[in-house]
Amino acid sequence: MSREKIYFKTFGCRTNLYDSQVMKSALKDYDITENEAEADVVVINSCTVTNGADSNVRNYISKLEKTTSPKIYLTGCGAHTKGEELLKEGRVAGVFGQSEKTQINKLLSRPDGFYEIGDLQFVDEAVVGEFIGKSRAFIKIQEGCNFRCSYCIIPYVRGDARSLDESRIIEQITKLAANGFGEFILTGTNLGSYGVDTKSSLAKLLKKISYVRGVRRIRLGSIEPIQVTEEFKELLDEPWLEKHLHIALQHTSPKMLKLMNRRNVYNQDRELFSFLQEKGFAIGTDFITGHPGETQEIWQEAVENLKNIHLTHLHAFTYSKRDGTPSATLKPQINGKTAKERLHEIEAIVQEKNYAFRKSQTRPLVVLIESFKEGYYHGYDQFFNQIKVKSSIDLVGNWLEITDYEVKPECNYAVFEA
Ligand code: SF4
Repeated sequence: MSREKIYFKTFGCRTNLYDSQVMKSALKDYDITENEAEADVVVINSCTVTNGADSNVRNYISKLEKTTSPKIYLTGCGAHTKGEELLKEGRVAGVFGQSEKTQINKLLSRPDGFYEIGDLQFVDEAVVGEFIGKSRAFIKIQEGCNFRCSYCIIPYVRGDARSLDESRIIEQITKLAANGFGEFILTGTNLGSYGVDTKSSLAKLLKKISYVRGVRRIRLGSIEPIQVTEEFKELLDEPWLEKHLHIALQHTSPKMLKLMNRRNVYNQDRELFSFLQEKGFAIGTDFITGHPGETQEIWQEAVENLKNIHLTHLHAFTYSKRDGTPSATLKPQINGKTAKERLHEIEAIVQEKNYAFRKSQTRPLVVLIESFKEGYYHGYDQFFNQIKVKSSIDLVGNWLEITDYEVKPECNYAVFEA
């Protein structure tokens, strides 16, 4: 009997990509296909972060129903918010939560429709999320979030913060470092809360990782301002810590931060950022424009405040409504066009700041070359700025120290010959 073909459709973030990988390796009785049209079974690893994300999943199911009508299973964050409804409507054959992902082979063989939402407290055993080339690895160190930002559904679908086992993290990094990996990027839903449940801390973990032979640079995903503790500050001069931190502010108006139920306070954020500036750090942040209640007055204040802080990178989004969150019912709603204009306004400000920061650097750039594209070797320096290098030798996977380079508005350029 020929085996059924299964196709994975993954929506959303890096965590979902990771979960899909785990499911694929747990499958025994199916053949995985990359061709959706020939699939007998489709597993949708869904995202529910905004209303738009929910409609994407529903639209995708409708498309499958109209075309190849495979058997459909739903997992991922959307399983928690939309799973029951879709199962009742008979549109999916089964629903399972992230904690059940390694059971996928058994679940898919069940003849009945099932709803196995699992446990929001589970902790993953595997810690390696993804490799980039042969030199960088993403390491997942925690899952879930204890914050309750008004616009965010994540804590309700990913659960409270819990840390992955420290010895497993160190074991994995040791293995990878022995195999030539030099840069490690730590990730998690709310990375900086690592250790709150295990009487440890991000700083303690970082120190232990730095002792592993072969670890050259450690980068962190997003952390929160209050997670830059005194203990963490003691590590800021360590050579293995990337000289770039991504600290999520989400906004720079004190009123808006309150509306968003954020734990950061603008004046303290500004002090923290200037302290980090003195330490030579580049700093990136997340920012949401167009959140309900963002009047013109609040916006003006936010822009002025943003100009007054040290920022070199920006990850800005326009607000996207998510039913079931406090922000969804707040008024006044801001129209999408205004939100986009505001986003572009702050992007331009931070681009200028980034250019000025790069021009002011006097230290050599320490670059890990990741890829070769369109005639250039591409890599990032210790400030997380991109550099494009011309060279007649293959540089991919190499670390370079670059003193002579040209700073252009879009990125830095250099020539390297042995
Ligand atoms: S910190 Fe706020 S935005 Fe980030 S996952 Fe937690 S609740 Fe969501």
